[in-house]
Amino acid sequence: MSVHDKSATQNLDHLYDSARWHRLRKHQLQEHPLCKFCMERGIVTAATICDHVEPHRGDVNKFWLGELQSLCQHCHVTAKYDIETRGYRRDIGFDGWPLDPRHPCYLWENKNKPDV
Ligand SMILES: [Zn+2]
Repeated sequence: MSVHDKSATQNLDHLYDSARWHRLRKHQLQEHPLCKFCMERGIVTAATICDHVEPHRGDVNKFWLGELQSLCQHCHVTAKYDIETRGYRRDIGFDGWPLDPRHPCYLWENKNKPDV
């Protein structure tokens, strides 16, 4: 099934109201109560969002079976938005470098490594 096949995707917003999702969300937040992205920056923040690591984009199988992560509201609307629009996060780690290995600065670094 191609990504252009409209029958492959649908609006799944109603599933967020289902008892099954509420159970999944509760389990995720109990197992991982802290925001994953904040933890990578050394910040302890309670997670409130159960987020699909890979956006399901209307795919029912990805919705139910896709990997989940716990995020705070701030990270969900900032870092996740960056990932979905730019393809990488822009937040900076302790060392002053972006945390996301997909950040373009690492592409530049890899391209300009001298041949050994
Ligand atoms: Zn966070």
